[in-house]
Amino acid sequence: MSDSALYLTDAYLREFDSRVVRSSPGEVVLESTAFYPQGGGQPFDQGSLLYGDGRRFNVEAVEKSEGGIVHRGSGEAPGPGSQVRGVLDWSRRYAHMRYHTCLHILSGVVFRNFGSVITGGQIYQDRARMDLSLPDLSRERMEEVLLEMNRVVEEDHPIHVRFLSRAEAERDPTLVRVARELLPNLETIRLIDIEGFDVQADGGTHVRSTREVGRVTLQKFENKGSKNKRLYLTVEPAAPSSSGSGS
Ligand SMILES: [Zn+2]
Repeated sequence: MSDSALYLTDAYLREFDSRVVRSSPGEVVLESTAFYPQGGGQPFDQGSLLYGDGRRFNVEAVEKSEGGIVHRGSGEAPGPGSQVRGVLDWSRRYAHMRYHTCLHILSGVVFRNFGSVITGGQIYQDRARMDLSLPDLSRERMEEVLLEMNRVVEEDHPIHVRFLSRAEAERDPTLVRVARELLPNLETIRLIDIEGFDVQADGGTHVRSTREVGRVTLQKFENKGSKNKRLYLTVEPAAPSSSGSGS
């Protein structure tokens, strides 16, 4: 099934061709897709499936199910065997990629500095929230964290996707810092490697270098019980992309 999930190996794929495996009113399953299904705090992608003579199925939600990745939406669904061109709402997805990577930087910094563990998070197009275990987080400490995050952004670390067997990954506990239940139960572990800074297991989409995240600002932080903190971050608006899709 991971072969069909094109976003796992190429997060910058914003258009792709595929074929319909199954469809019903409002639902389409493709042989392969670049649409990210909801998961790991990252929202699903939106966009369209173009087919036939200018017909269009609007993808409004995407989710993983037993039978594959399901594209839900409106418009006449293309029938099984149809060739389709998938087109992502790129500004939505790219914002998610930047915020997702921003959370990796945050989690790397708080782990290094305080041994904090991430307990949850949510990505939006204009902000991200992260919950972590950290008993005494003062305003000064938070400023320090932010300074370090922006240093990592400035250092422009390349970001790679790597795959490891689960057995190999479990031998290295530093790879799996997210709470256990957040990790998918898969044979192969996908790693997001921020070169020279941090490696984490996860299934989302990320930008290819830390500078693409942009300058990070802390909106607020609040206590969630005595041990946990909730942080809200924003990044500066994306600069017009000169690197494009890389093709
Ligand atoms: Zn991630």
